Amino acid sequence: MTIDTKAKKPLRTTREFSGASTGKPNEQKSNSALAREAKERGESRFTWTCERHGETDHYSSSQGACVKCCSDRNRQAHAQRVATLEGRKARNAYQRERRSIPEVREAANAYHRRYDESRKALDPSYAAHMRAKTVNANAIRRMRELKPPRPETAMPSTETLRECAELVKHFPADAEVDHAIPLRGFLPGTKEWVVSGLHVPYNLEPMEARSNNRKNSWFDPEAPLEFQKPRNSFPGGQFHGEIGEIELMRYTEPTTLELWTKDEFRAAAVEAGNTAMETLAA
Ligand SMILES: [Zn+2]
Repeated sequence: MTIDTKAKKPLRTTREFSGASTGKPNEQKSNSALAREAKERGESRFTWTCERHGETDHYSSSQGACVKCCSDRNRQAHAQRVATLEGRKARNAYQRERRSIPEVREAANAYHRRYDESRKALDPSYAAHMRAKTVNANAIRRMRELKPPRPETAMPSTETLRECAELVKHFPADAEVDHAIPLRGFLPGTKEWVVSGLHVPYNLEPMEARSNNRKNSWFDPEAPLEFQKPRNSFPGGQFHGEIGEIELMRYTEPTTLELWTKDEFRAAAVEAGNTAMETLAA
C-alpha cells in the first residue's frame, strides 16, 4: 500500500526505506518487517514514524500503512465518490448488497449503536438531534403502514419535517412526543377510526410516558380538544412539578376517557419534583 502519491518528496524505494542500502541492516527494521512481527504476535497495530504524521499507529496488516494516512485517503475518496448522483447511487447499491449479508448487517448495527451511544453521552445536542429524527421517521413509518395508506398529499413536506425536528429538540429529554390529535384516532367504546391527525409542529406535544399510554389513540369528536386526554402544556405542565390551573382542569373535568385522578396526578407531580431536586443536589 502506498502513501499519498501527492507528497512532495519522491517516494523512496523499499531498499532505501528499510535501511538495507546503508549496509547496517539491523539498526532500524523496516516497517513491513515490524508489521510482520506485530502480526505474528497477534497485534493489529504497531508504532512507526509516518512522514506526514510523526509517531502514529500503523496497521500490521497492509505492510504497515499509517492509520491516519489511510483514514485521510479513505475520507477524501469517499467525498469524491458521493459528490455525484451516480456516485451516491453506486454507493447505496453497494451498501444494500453488503447489508443483505446477515453478519455484515449485525456488525454494522452494533457499530452504529456503539457510535450513537458514545456520541450521545458526549454531546447532548446530538442526542436531541437523533431523537427528533427518530420521531419524524416513526411518524412517517406509521402513516405509511396505515391501511389504506395515507395519501402523499397528507404527508408532511421536508420543510414541515424540519420544523417538527426543531420543535422536538426543545422537548424535555425524558418526555415522550405525542400527537395531540392521534395520527389514527379511535372513538372510545366503538373503536371506530374517526380522525387522522397530521404530523405537523402544532400537533406535537411533550408528554409523560404514563399519560401518553393512557391517552393511546383515543379520540372523541364530541369532546373539546383540551379534554381529549391529559395535555401537558409548558410551563406549568407535569415536568415542572406543579399543577397549572389548566392542567388541573384537564385532569379533573369529566371526559369520556380514563384520565389520572387529581391525587394520582399530585403524587406524580411531587415525585417528579423530588427527582428533580435530587438531580440538582447530586
Ligand atoms: Zn501518516
